[in-house]
Amino acid sequence: MNIAIGADRAEIRHELSRATYDLLVIGGGILGTSVTWMAAQAGLRVAMVEAGDFAGATSSASSKLVHGGLRYLQTGNVKLVAENHRERRALAADIAPHLVKPLSFLVPIYKGGPHGAAKLGAGVFLYSALSVFGDGMGKVITPHQAMTRVPALRSEGLRAAAVYGDHQMNDSRVAVMTVRAAVDAGAVVLNHAEVVGLRKSGGNATGNVTGAELRDRLDGTEFGVDARLVLNATGPWVDHLRRMEDPHAAPSIRLSKGAHLVMRRHDPWKAALTTPIDKYRVSFAIPWEDHLLLGTTDEAYEGDPADVRATDADIAQILDEAGHAVRDCQLRREDITYAFAGLRVLPGGPGQVSAAKRETVVTRGAGGMLSVAGGKWTTYRHIGRHVLETLSRLPGRPLGDDLADILPAVPLPGLASPDAVAMRLWTEREPGARMDPLVARNLATHYGTIAFDVARLIRDDPSLGERIHPDGPDIWAQAVYARDHEWAATVDDVVRRRTTLTVRGLDTPDVRTRIEQLLA
Ligand SMILES: Cc1cc2nc3c(=O)[nH]c(=O)nc-3n(C[C@H](O)[C@H](O)[C@H](O)COP(=O)(O)OP(=O)(O)OC[C@H]3O[C@@H](n4cnc5c(N)ncnc54)[C@H](O)[C@@H]3O)c2cc1C
Repeated sequence: MNIAIGADRAEIRHELSRATYDLLVIGGGILGTSVTWMAAQAGLRVAMVEAGDFAGATSSASSKLVHGGLRYLQTGNVKLVAENHRERRALAADIAPHLVKPLSFLVPIYKGGPHGAAKLGAGVFLYSALSVFGDGMGKVITPHQAMTRVPALRSEGLRAAAVYGDHQMNDSRVAVMTVRAAVDAGAVVLNHAEVVGLRKSGGNATGNVTGAELRDRLDGTEFGVDARLVLNATGPWVDHLRRMEDPHAAPSIRLSKGAHLVMRRHDPWKAALTTPIDKYRVSFAIPWEDHLLLGTTDEAYEGDPADVRATDADIAQILDEAGHAVRDCQLRREDITYAFAGLRVLPGGPGQVSAAKRETVVTRGAGGMLSVAGGKWTTYRHIGRHVLETLSRLPGRPLGDDLADILPAVPLPGLASPDAVAMRLWTEREPGARMDPLVARNLATHYGTIAFDVARLIRDDPSLGERIHPDGPDIWAQAVYARDHEWAATVDDVVRRRTTLTVRGLDTPDVRTRIEQLLA
């Protein structure tokens, strides 16, 4: 049976424990969500469970870039860059043009910097050639031209800037739209449901993994899910789950922490900055959600993944590194609205984490569970398809032989031109009663045509058209929609991941209390 969007948690738990699934995916980050979406499209009966909120861990702590990865050119990985570009352009053109937006990037070249203008000029030219010049030709511009695009760019010692094109997104929103796509395709999903143990065939510790024991983190209910095959897509927790399968499993990955800051922006920026810090690392300064996103750090991490956060030392490092290219007046601590950190999953092995390859790590355990971690947000559909293919070819063919072909370009829900949606939202009502253009734009670029469903809530109850906080564009209808149609169950789900309140520093105690009342 298909579980409708908006079904309550008890109903979903009942459905999860009632059936035997072809595939149970543990972990509702973007990797698990992608495999779930692909498996449902291939006609499989698939369930996905997530301990916290969908994309609540690494997948909402990224640099929000949909990119080819300029730095991979340095290691000569031309094929990888071309693949990433293809996927980037597919997302921006066919899959999610309402959620993924083009952005031009400048690489400022300073006297004494780690790379010269000739090398960077050749680099951005090759980078643009690898995407068939779809975003224009990479080139070198003068300091004056660079400063007209980014007024806060530091001018002392600036020799030139290299220019290239990529895309950006709001990662949490793209993730929740992908969860919705998976459910539309027939998957059953539940967040705030933690796997606390694995089911084994014959109840035997050395048997095959045949499902999982779960605990609902919101009300403590315990339940189980049976499946022919179980996929561990728990990102930084991947080895924790592997040890549930086999207490002696050797570590397969290591972790590197990356922190970011969000700051209020004083001037419009027409481009982002990619500032080389040393031979390998860059510091990003990216216009995002009317703010500025700065980061990131790259440092080995050995603690509990649940405890990862941006520390004072991270904040100092990010501001210091941004200061290579951004003027001090744009880097004042009082302008910080949010700081966050996530964990990169890197293949285990020796060497500096900043030089390690960003690959997907796939292992199969003694109980037959496949574990997958790592990779990029940008290529999530590609990784999802690849993992599904791997699962379908496992010895003994546990998924059977008749998986349907996946259509190459199934769009995310709400597909539309965001400009068209914003215009419709704005012109829908009579002059004098029109939606604020900033609110309309915010809805259009985070929901696509689903913004019309959100707007319909306002028609029924005009108070839902009010802003949640006067300084931001998010409105109460979004919180109601998040609760009823986007699996938001906690205040953080709403303020951090369904809306932009936390990012903008607007999740005040009063706002949190009012959202808590709404959820209750
Ligand atoms: C700092 C940083 C910046 C990045 N920037 C970019 C970028 O700009 N562009 C790009 O393309 N890529 C970027 N990436 C990479 C990208 O963010 C990751 O590859 C991607 O988010 C990984 O997703 P995931 O689903 O594997 O992991 P996660 O998002 O961490 O998901 C794993 C999930 O498993 C859940 N889980 C754990 N244990 C259990 C359990 N027992 N039961 C149920 N669920 C459980 C967790 O709660 C978690 O939500 C960045 C990564 C980092 C760290």
